[in-house]
Amino acid sequence: MEKTNINFVSDMNSVNDSVNVVVGCGLAGIVIANKIATELNEPVVIMERKDHIGGTCYDYVDSETGIHVHKYGPHIFRTNSTEVWEYLSKYTKWYPYMHRVLGVIDGISVPIPFNLDSLHKALPVTLADKLEEKLIEKFGFNTKVPILELRKTNDKDLNFLADFIYEKVFLKYTLKQWGVKPEQLDPSVTGSVPVFIGRDSRYFQERFQGIPFDGYTAMFERMLAHPNISVMLNTDFLKIKNTVQYKRLFYTGAIEEYFDYKFGKLPYRSLDIKIETFNVPSFQEVSVVNYPENYDFTRITENKQFLNDKSDKTVLTFEYPMDFEEGKNERIYPILNPTNQAIYDQYLAEAKKIPNVYFLGRLGAYRYYDMNRTIQGSFETFNEIMGK
Ligand code: UDP
Repeated sequence: MEKTNINFVSDMNSVNDSVNVVVGCGLAGIVIANKIATELNEPVVIMERKDHIGGTCYDYVDSETGIHVHKYGPHIFRTNSTEVWEYLSKYTKWYPYMHRVLGVIDGISVPIPFNLDSLHKALPVTLADKLEEKLIEKFGFNTKVPILELRKTNDKDLNFLADFIYEKVFLKYTLKQWGVKPEQLDPSVTGSVPVFIGRDSRYFQERFQGIPFDGYTAMFERMLAHPNISVMLNTDFLKIKNTVQYKRLFYTGAIEEYFDYKFGKLPYRSLDIKIETFNVPSFQEVSVVNYPENYDFTRITENKQFLNDKSDKTVLTFEYPMDFEEGKNERIYPILNPTNQAIYDQYLAEAKKIPNVYFLGRLGAYRYYDMNRTIQGSFETFNEIMGK
């Protein structure tokens, strides 16, 4: 697809009470801006704190190696929605990539989500055969069981297996990633990587999966290159909030910041991401390898595998999770539990009282959204303003 130009602006000349202001130029903001510009034919100004578009989906081409690097960790697009897939496909060709992950447990690389092949790799053959039979008998072939559910079985052998997977795959990884045990998180968090009683070694089963052919940033550039859209980078909306006029405001930042923390802080996990180039053509078998037990990082991503980039070097990403601290790092993962949900609900009730202001995206909704869900959220907001 052809290269296009975004209308970057650095002053407030185009901001007035007949424009739509979008705060945040990540996926949620880009989609809502694109829909308003193309389908409503109305002007949009996007204000972004960072010096680049794309939020945490941002990728760039490393100048030394030519490899596309996911700056904020691995992003693999997948959806079951034809609408979402066709929408993005207007702005990108796809590299038909299917994600596979290995986890190193007891020094052995096994498929993650843990499946029947993982079972046979990790345990002696007679034990693995017996457990496979019991798993299939109890749950059926090709079924998925969240680890916290598997741990509830009464069978002695299945209990042994559940404890083994819990200890080796989930417990230490989750302690590193979230600072708490799996059972202290919303069950959907570890439930998204269930034990798989089958041989499908893909990380995701969605119908459509892929990586934008020339990267996420290139796709976003095409979504933003529209005469109705202006983008202001390095612009902190909250610092100028009282002077900004708008017809509608779409806020994709943290909802608690918008309301000046009046109901308290909402906690998040963040990541320290280390990106390093190694002088070897290939480092690991699959793009992402998880290290539940060893090291302080959770996983290593080999960026060149996403788009099959050719180089005699490789660029690796190491993710070191940590708590979010204002001014020190980024909000990346909302920490879902009933206490935090109750705080969020207070903000949401407040948000509903303000006309023409909408909160969306992972931070606006305080949800552990993946890219598909984020896009669906922006579609929902768009339909809301259209009165659908
Ligand atoms: N998880 C784990 N071990 C793994 C993979 C995942 O314990 O090898 C748990 C962990 O709590 C993680 C969650 O499952 O945060 C969701 O994993 P996913 O790979 O979807 O996380 P993301 O890519 O969003 O960081």
